Formats: sequence, C-alpha cells, structure tokens
Amino acid sequence: MSTTLDSPTDTQVPVLRNYVGGAWTAPSGDADDVVNPATGETVARVPLSSAKEVEAAVAAARAALPEWRRTPATTRARFVARYLRGIEDRLDEVAAAIAKDVGKTLAEGRGEVIRSMEGLEAAGAIPMLLRGQLAENVASGVDAEMIRQPVGVCGVISPFNFPLFSTIAQQSAALVCGNTIVWKPSEQTPLTQQVLFDIIDGIGIPAGVWNLVNGGREVVEAMLESPGIDAISFVGSAKVAQLVHSRGTANGKRVQALGGAKNYMVVMPDAVIDQTANQIAQSGFGTSGQRCMAGSVIVTVGGVWSELKDDLVARGAEITLGDPMQDGVDIGPVVSLAAAERIQAGIQRALDDGATLVLDGRDPGVEGNGFFVGPTILENVDAESDLAREELFGPVLAVVEVGSLDEAIELVNGSPYGNGTSLFTESGAAARHFRAEVEVGMVGINIGVAAPVALFPFTGWKKSMFGDIPIQAEASVDFFTRKKSVTTRYFS
Ligand code: NAD
Repeated sequence: MSTTLDSPTDTQVPVLRNYVGGAWTAPSGDADDVVNPATGETVARVPLSSAKEVEAAVAAARAALPEWRRTPATTRARFVARYLRGIEDRLDEVAAAIAKDVGKTLAEGRGEVIRSMEGLEAAGAIPMLLRGQLAENVASGVDAEMIRQPVGVCGVISPFNFPLFSTIAQQSAALVCGNTIVWKPSEQTPLTQQVLFDIIDGIGIPAGVWNLVNGGREVVEAMLESPGIDAISFVGSAKVAQLVHSRGTANGKRVQALGGAKNYMVVMPDAVIDQTANQIAQSGFGTSGQRCMAGSVIVTVGGVWSELKDDLVARGAEITLGDPMQDGVDIGPVVSLAAAERIQAGIQRALDDGATLVLDGRDPGVEGNGFFVGPTILENVDAESDLAREELFGPVLAVVEVGSLDEAIELVNGSPYGNGTSLFTESGAAARHFRAEVEVGMVGINIGVAAPVALFPFTGWKKSMFGDIPIQAEASVDFFTRKKSVTTRYFS
C-alpha cells in the first residue's frame, strides 16, 4: 500500500533508507509497504524516492568519478574483493534477507549468494581485460593505440526475483572498469540491499562511488532523463526493458536492457527419462518458476510425453510448499498477491483455451495469508495460446507435443523471446543440429536451467535483451568502457 512516510500505517515496521555519498539517508515523501510473501505481513516500508533524490545520488556519483577513474584498476578490484569477503562472512544473513524478500527458501537464497560470489570472483580478472592495444609503425614513425576508459556514472535497475544476482556481474564490472554507480533495486524486494549496503559501508570504498536509491517507476524515469547518467544497465520484464532502452538511448545513454523470457525445453524420444524429469521439475518449479531462465514449455517429440508424464507429475506432486524459512520446504510463495492472481488467471485462460490439467496447484492448501501457487502441469496446450507464448512467471509447465525435432525448433524459433532453451537427448547429432539452428541466446543440452557461469556472457536474444552488449565476462568490460584511439608521432 502506498502512503507517505510522514503518516505511516504502522509505526512498528522499519523504514528503509537510501545510501548516498557514503552515508545512509532518510528520504521523505511517498512509501510502499514491503510485504513478506510467505505471511502477507508488512515487514518494512520502502521509500518511493523522487527525482530530487535521484539527482542527489547522481551528483554524489559524479563528484566521486574523477578520483575513482584515476584509481588503479587493481585497487578498484580490491574493493570488490573486500565486498565479496563481506558477503561471504555474512552469507546466511544475506540469504535470509533474499528469502524474506522474494519468498525463496533459505537454500535457494544461499544458492543465489554463491552464484553472485562467482560473479564477484570473476571481476578480479577485469584489470587484465582493461589492457589496450598498440601497433607500431602504422605509417612511417607513427604508432596507433587503443585505450579503454570508464563510461562514467552508471544507473543500475534490478528486478524482484534476484535482488543480488541479477545485477552483480554488471555492478562489479562497472566499478573495476572505473565507473561510479546509482543502484535502484525493485521496490518489491528492497530488504536485501539494506544488508548489502551495510557491507559496502564497511569496505572503505570512497564516498559516492556506490549509491542506493529506493523507489519505483519515478526513480527509473528520473534516471533515464538525468544528464548526469551516462549508461543504464537494466534487468526486468520485456515491456519495461524495451521502454528503458528506447528512452535511454534517445537521451544519448549507452543502454543494456535484459527482458523477460519464455523458455522451451525440448525432449527427444532417446532422452534419459528420470534425469530429464528431474531437470524439468527443478527448472519449472524451483523458485516457484520465477527465474528468467526457468523452463516453462515442454516440447515433447514423437510421443515421448507418454513416457515422461508419470515421472514428472510424481516429482511435481512430491514438492513441499510452505514457509521458506522452515526446513524441509522445497518451494515458497510467489512474490505478491498480484503475482498469485495473475498466475491463477493464466491457468484458467489456458483451460478455457482447451488445455487439460495433469497436476493442479491452484489450491495448494498452505495455511495462513501467504501467496502460494503449487506446481501445475497442463497438457494439450495449443502452441499458439498465451500459455505457450507469453511469460507467466509461476510454477506452471505447459506441454506441447510435436512430431519431429525440426517442428520443435520451428516452435522455439517462433517465440518473440530468446533467453534460454534446452534439449534433452543422448544423440550428439540432434544436439549439434539444435545448437546450430535454434534462435535463442543460451542453450542447454540435458541442462534444465541453461544460465551460463560468470566466466561466459549472459546472452539473451530478441525481446529477452535490448541493446547490443550483453552482461558478464568480457562483454561487461565492453559495456562499461569506452574505447579511445590515439595516433602518435614525434618529430625529433
Ligand atoms: P519489472 O519490469 O516489473 O521491474 C523491473 C524494474 O523496473 C523494477 O526495478 C521496477 O521498479 C521498474 N519498473 C517497473 N515498471 C516500470 C515502468 N513502467 N517504468 C519504469 N520502470 C519500471 O520486472 P519484475 O517483475 O521486477 O521482474 C521479473 C521480470 O524480470 C521477468 O519478466 C523476468 O523474466 C525478468 N528478468 C530477466 C532477467 C534476464 O536476465 N533476462 C533476469 C531476471 C529477471
């Protein structure tokens, strides 16, 4: 619920703060309730910062830029390494904040922290990637060189589902490349950043290098309009990603905007059934289906659905839903009441379109006021229906049966999204054909969540990424540096 910070609905809950210019700041104005999705309780209030607060953070980041960009890259990398150690020391606390924010289990929260640490570790190699190039004697007595310099002040905008992981590779690369940052987390999951900035506060990084501005759409719009921001790294839904990319680039900014997804998992008749069912269940139902790389459509080739069905349904039915902080719980709630209602409506629409339920999670029977939807599987799904084509972002798997691998590839390539896709087969020839022909940026062979490790770029295609330069690995260095070419001659 949105009210003002001056007239709180409940004085018992903490009001979250921004972190600007090396200090915690307390914004005034509008605020939203932060709701624990497992209980429906308001646990904090998040400020909906204004354009004025964005400008204060941008001014702090600009003021810090000249000294930070002149700081040796290895020293900058050392601050990121200190942050990594701070996160490692407080791993359980960060994992618990993620779990409370998103509704993930503690194990999933820990998993997110550990994947994020890999991103921070990879950033340690960035100083080497900042080396330029030099060619001697490109003309008589003339040398040519290319050097890399930071882009400037970078705005980073996160989605709700990975409060830490979704932008860690970008932020660590931006810093080591010599940029300063203004970070806006999702207003739905802002608790994690309070712990993260407590860690940042303790690593001695110069004031103004790393800033936090809480809020919603107004903050994003102010960042897109601010002449003090040089680049924007956004992760979120396709609709907002497209909007951020077009408005940001129109304002002369460098923009990478990662969008939503609809990921197809293709199963061949020679797939190893039990392992395939396990991978598909983890991919589709883990984190309640709220991962941009979660598989959501199972495309079965040549009648293999009849072999896979019982195993997959049994795995889905065995999943324990409940309070994600409790031991023995496999998946928690979805992030909000609105998300639960949207997922329920999507299932109903699929039924109206002629699909049939083989596992029904609509009423998972979890006591209390949390926002739970259980694992759900629908068969006889029309390949052109919304369920097969549009992102639902819940623990729902749609089954579409086709006759051949080429038919499956045609289906995958017809999607407006191109984030991830998987093929389950023991045939090297089928895998090679799939890898070559499929129009999707990240491919898994017998891997349910084909997200590349931090050493490789994260390469969504089509509506899953707007902008030319992806995140992670060398790509991050390309995004967060500008190339300068210098041609030199001396007369004496
Ligand atoms: P979202 O697009 O609703 O929000 C993302 C960010 O944009 C938030 O910080 C939010 O405050 C802001 N925002 C929302 N509406 C806006 C508007 N109209 N104008 C300006 N800013 C706006 O996404 P979400 O629901 O928080 O996250 C889930 C989505 O993110 C899913 O679509 C998922 O697939 C996608 N995602 C993609 C990746 C990827 O790597 N491609 C990774 C994680 C999540």
